[in-house]
Amino acid sequence: MTGANGSMNRVVDRRALVTGGSGGIGFDIAKSLAEEGADVAVQWHRNQTEAAKIVGLVEKAGRKSIAVQADLQDPKSVRLMRDSLHEKFGKIDVLINCAGINRDSLFTRMTDEQWDEVIQVNLSGVYHCCKAFVEEISASGRGRIINISSLVGQMGNIGQVNYAASKSGMIGFTKALARELARDKTTVNVVAPGFIDTPMVQNIPEKVRQKILSQIPMGRFGTPREVAMSVVYLVSSEADYVTGAVLNLNGGMYL
Ligand code: NAD
Repeated sequence: MTGANGSMNRVVDRRALVTGGSGGIGFDIAKSLAEEGADVAVQWHRNQTEAAKIVGLVEKAGRKSIAVQADLQDPKSVRLMRDSLHEKFGKIDVLINCAGINRDSLFTRMTDEQWDEVIQVNLSGVYHCCKAFVEEISASGRGRIINISSLVGQMGNIGQVNYAASKSGMIGFTKALARELARDKTTVNVVAPGFIDTPMVQNIPEKVRQKILSQIPMGRFGTPREVAMSVVYLVSSEADYVTGAVLNLNGGMYL
């Protein structure tokens, strides 16, 4: 049966945590999961206002929500976030690792700090979150972990050695964990977006944006909603048998 906003209640009775839930893509993922029937907690780092906004939207969709603060570089902060979630929201069975940063620079000029920060947030952050929540997720017997990687982790990009390494590392991490958790019927997958129309892409100089567009066979950027709907699919029972997969959303830019 089709519900509000054309939703089909594909993820009812699910309890999800979306990291980076106050960001461009995370925001739409949290909203779409709620519209499809899930309770959704959102992790925020510095943008409490946006996090409160998404909590309001989830609640408006009739679902339970909470915003929790954490710095994903810090395992202690992640464990505190988990304890606070358990107390105020309950255990989760779905983890969407969407928080991520870029600190771009040509390799010859890249600083150790730029390298470390990107690896710590994008890759170690995924490790810390999976580590903190893996027990409850696999105990659910139908767990889901979805890691938001990037096309850049698959094909590289000038000025993004740190970012490409982190996003590529996420793919290997996903495949190994998928093998370990398969016996608990928990799936672990990657969504690899290409260029998505968010502030990250809107801030690229117009000349460069046009050059990128000319390299996308579909001739347009993707939308956060399109990324969100691929996440909804992977969380739904329709994807019970999909694990260790990399779902590309790049308009044909990388095949
Ligand atoms: P965004 O900057 O809007 O959101 C990133 C989120 O990460 C923010 O909510 C921020 O609070 C969080 N974050 C940053 N540092 C953190 C830290 N130390 N601890 C906890 N949280 C932290 O970015 P976005 O465009 O929405 O991207 C979301 C994800 O999708 C990222 O992982 C990004 O790499 C990936 N991605 C984006 C694009 C794109 O075109 N926008 C393309 C491919 C992949």
